Amino acid sequence: MSYDTECVFCKIIEKKIPSATIYEDPYVISFLDINPRFKGHVLVVPKVHVSTLDQLGDEAIAHLFVVVKHIAKNLVENLGAAGYNIMINNGRVAGQVVPHLHVHIIPRYKDEKQGMGFEVAFPVDEKAKSMLNDIAEKVKLTKEIKPIFRSEEKKEQKGHEEEEREGNSEKSGKSSSLPYESEYFNDDGTPKFK
Ligand SMILES: [Zn+2]
Repeated sequence: MSYDTECVFCKIIEKKIPSATIYEDPYVISFLDINPRFKGHVLVVPKVHVSTLDQLGDEAIAHLFVVVKHIAKNLVENLGAAGYNIMINNGRVAGQVVPHLHVHIIPRYKDEKQGMGFEVAFPVDEKAKSMLNDIAEKVKLTKEIKPIFRSEEKKEQKGHEEEEREGNSEKSGKSSSLPYESEYFNDDGTPKFK
């Protein structure tokens, strides 16, 4: 994982090319799409060069989507959108143009074209429709996916000292550090690049 010198989004992250940035933290950047499909069409981009969602760590994905939520709410409130689409194109075959993972948030307005959702991009595949049960059998995910937030069990294992420290940080209004794995981030919270 690294900045890719040829990648336009890596260049934006490194401030080598300008963007209409609306949000930035050590893990994620969000800026307006230069080819907006509707007013306020933004991209939310992790600050690690991975191509597709499945290549990003669970914690990084969790933070990415928390940011997506806040930005979507902000767009609705400030642009008067009536709804929004959230899209990720993964791979060329899926229409991905820049090979650096990005989430599209596309505000939608009452006075604009309606119904530009699945029915336009993806008409119903009747053959696939006739095979729902067969396909479900093929793609069933049997492993348990543990939630990334701290479990009650872990909380109970913590010492009294740590509980006190957390209590104090709550009082002072400071949020605790994000639970990112070192695979992606350094101890100080900065992204790790190879
Ligand atoms: Zn990149």
